[in-house]
Amino acid sequence: MTQAQQRKRINMILDKLSSAYPDARVGLDFENPLQLLVATMLSAQCTDERVNIVTKSLFKKYHSVRDYINVPQEELENDIRSTGFFRNKARNIKACCEVLLSKHNSEVPATMDELVQLPGVGRKTANCVLSNCYNIPGLTVDTHVIRISNLLGLVEDSDAVRIEFALMDVVEKERWNEFDLLIITHGRRTCIARRPKCAECVISDLCPSAQL
Ligand code: SF4
Repeated sequence: MTQAQQRKRINMILDKLSSAYPDARVGLDFENPLQLLVATMLSAQCTDERVNIVTKSLFKKYHSVRDYINVPQEELENDIRSTGFFRNKARNIKACCEVLLSKHNSEVPATMDELVQLPGVGRKTANCVLSNCYNIPGLTVDTHVIRISNLLGLVEDSDAVRIEFALMDVVEKERWNEFDLLIITHGRRTCIARRPKCAECVISDLCPSAQL
């Protein structure tokens, strides 16, 4: 399939998913870039639902980078314990906030280069912040995007960064943010890992992995 044909197929997939999921929204609750940055760091190896439960009280207690910096490490660990890997996450959040304070005037930067320099922040977290807080196109490659991009035959790979760059070639830039939102929603509701509901899937006619 040529790149033009692939783009056309992806546009058809996105149009159909957009109609199927008009209520698609980002899974993590947040009100500002710092909150999304922290929530995304907490979401590693954890469900969005669990993160939202934790951040509901966390964000009432911590309002600024200084709040995360000033709290004892152990107290922050306890506040995020149920998201798993809490020691590492607490360490990264505190270190990240130190850099935000010293280098970015306590603001979350709006460029990929600056974001990935922050402790504990990789391309996935950076893209999530850029696209959802600053409306800058970015492809957030999470477990759903990895799985479904392979099922749809858009990539044959398991490496998130390679997949991100491969998708950048075939998904139109103005649809990158929409692609993430819709594919992740599709992964949660229909194309569920190990038990995809192909019979109910609105893009089964465009999917080489459909089991009908
Ligand atoms: S047809 Fe099945 S495997 Fe393909 S995207 Fe739909 S649910 Fe997933």
